[in-house]
Amino acid sequence: MSLFENTLKQIEKAATIMSLDPNVKALMEHPQRIVEVSIPVKMDDGSLRFFQGFRVQHSNYAGPYKGGIRYHQNVDMGEVQALSAWMSIKCSVVGIPLGGGKGGIVVNPKELSVGELERLTRGYIRAIADVIGPTKDVPAPDVNTTPQIMDWIVDEYLKIKRETGELTSEDMNHMFMGVVTGKTLEHGGSKGRNIATAQGGVYVLDEVAKEKGFEPANTKVIIQGFGNAGGVMAQLLAKKGYQIVGASDSQGGLIFDKGCDPEKLLACKAEKATVINCDTDFGGRRVTNEELLETECDILILAALENQVHAENADKVKAKMILELANGPTTPEADEILAKKGIMVIPDILANSGGVTVSWFEMLQNAENKYWTEEEALQKLLPIMVDGWKAVKGNADKYNCTLREAAYVTALARIEGKIREKGIL
Ligand code: NAD
Repeated sequence: MSLFENTLKQIEKAATIMSLDPNVKALMEHPQRIVEVSIPVKMDDGSLRFFQGFRVQHSNYAGPYKGGIRYHQNVDMGEVQALSAWMSIKCSVVGIPLGGGKGGIVVNPKELSVGELERLTRGYIRAIADVIGPTKDVPAPDVNTTPQIMDWIVDEYLKIKRETGELTSEDMNHMFMGVVTGKTLEHGGSKGRNIATAQGGVYVLDEVAKEKGFEPANTKVIIQGFGNAGGVMAQLLAKKGYQIVGASDSQGGLIFDKGCDPEKLLACKAEKATVINCDTDFGGRRVTNEELLETECDILILAALENQVHAENADKVKAKMILELANGPTTPEADEILAKKGIMVIPDILANSGGVTVSWFEMLQNAENKYWTEEEALQKLLPIMVDGWKAVKGNADKYNCTLREAAYVTALARIEGKIREKGIL
């Protein structure tokens, strides 16, 4: 089943629960615009190579399309469509005025030199420049794309705006800076963006902890995907007293019976390329990626890629609760198995929405040309995440459904409101 089919299934489930107008459901099933481009790149050896790129604009009923750009050799249109639809849903779960979009380039960026990567990025932005902009469609980082890549994007976009005559003075730069978020601080990024995804997940987890009455010190956490999102999550949770007892990356995982210090593990990973090479440093036991997901713990944080918990392994998951920082890590079939086992899943579209929320803050700061402190950004994030959680929990109780179904219900009801406000239906 393609990732987009998973998304459609999730929409279908929520639509049935809430008796959604079939026309609203149909609008959500059809992305508004799909752009496919071929990007010519002059390689370092003088040859010309063409890369396939996508931008899917799923919906802009609530505001400009918003969503990251993924550089990966396995990116395909179905994946980008799914990710763009999830962005529409995610923004609405937390009630921010943005729609959903997503982009991707079929490339293994590790095989490119820095110069080739820069030329590819600039070429992609030239190819889609007409359909993006601070009030139209705002890309951001995703898997394998970095703040440096976002800086190239804004630089290329400003260049294009100078060429078209829309940008005539440096003083006007800020009006176009919001074309992309996740930039470095020197180029208009927002303080707090680097930790926002994980921090948002922590804010939601704090609410769950209050409700369920669990204490961090007695709570064992395993992190699948010790990257940007997962690595920061581990650090934030350790600071709150949670025990980090497992971590993994694409090469495999480590289990720490006595817990580990994620800050030290991150430093070790940076030095030795993968967490598994840090086993002797911190007394970790090596496990495969499959075994890590099946290890007993209180909270399993999924922060790697999509489709990690599926029909074949869901039954073996021994965590008491799952929190999804990755997009789409649990398939619909796995959801049903987990629900039957009584394992609560805090869904991606709520748990990782702190990232897009602080991206929205970055757009606001760029437009105003006024920058906030990290404390301000994270303080403004808190009530948005708490309100998102309350709305989702309220619908889960009202409809007696899972948190994922409730998150979709919450989002679809808000999107329906926007569609009707605009007179589309
Ligand atoms: P990243 O590339 O920094 O980290 C991903 C990590 O997962 C890497 O360490 C990689 O080695 C590991 N990994 C890959 N396959 C794995 C496997 N099979 N088992 C275990 N680990 C594996 O990416 P990221 O920015 O942290 O994003 C991770 C996920 O979170 C993605 O789904 C992304 O869309 C989602 N997300 C990230 C953000 C953000 O702000 N970074 C925001 C929202 C959603």
